[in-house]
Amino acid sequence: MLNIILFGPPGAGKGTQAIKLSEKYGLVHISTGDLLRAEVKAETELGKAAKSLMDKGILVSDEIVTGMIDSKISKSLSGKGFIFDGFPRTLPQAESLDNILSKYSLAITITLALEVEEEELYKRISLRGKISGRVDDQDRNTFLKRMQVYNAETSPLKSFYKNKGILVLLNGAGSIEDIFNSLSREIDKKL
Ligand code: ADP
Repeated sequence: MLNIILFGPPGAGKGTQAIKLSEKYGLVHISTGDLLRAEVKAETELGKAAKSLMDKGILVSDEIVTGMIDSKISKSLSGKGFIFDGFPRTLPQAESLDNILSKYSLAITITLALEVEEEELYKRISLRGKISGRVDDQDRNTFLKRMQVYNAETSPLKSFYKNKGILVLLNGAGSIEDIFNSLSREIDKKL
């Protein structure tokens, strides 16, 4: 199986690239942000608990997202692999992901980290906020909060994957096609 983590700050283009890569390589795309937004929309108990945190740019608990991931993985074990987008976001999530995968004798093949400057991220996110109506994309302070959470909790995961020898850093500035091509080149090296 080919199991990819698409890593990067909010607005780095993970969602856009994950959709394109999942089509090209036949992978199951798992976005915790999308899964959580679906729970919010369906007004489930989980969704109600997650909404106010998400709107403020704060992370939902590790238990909630890890549970969602475990159930998604267990349903697609006969496929070609997974592309994780927006997960893991904390060290406990990264450790849980390893444990879940190892239950099925699987592991992460590669972690592709998109690097984009903060001003460019803010431009992309505020543009997305106008189109999608996402509350967390419409306010500068919420953006700054998300960046703070990313820098404190998520960015350190780069060392976690670097130590495993599976981290690749890529420039996430440029056209969608150019970035897609550079991501594809790195994946092809693993095939
Ligand atoms: P972005 O990558 O643009 O920040 P996402 O759609 O991935 O946006 O996530 C939106 C919000 O959903 C996050 O700010 C957070 O509140 C919640 N969320 C998504 N994924 C996770 C996760 N793995 N752990 C905790 N919270 C998460």
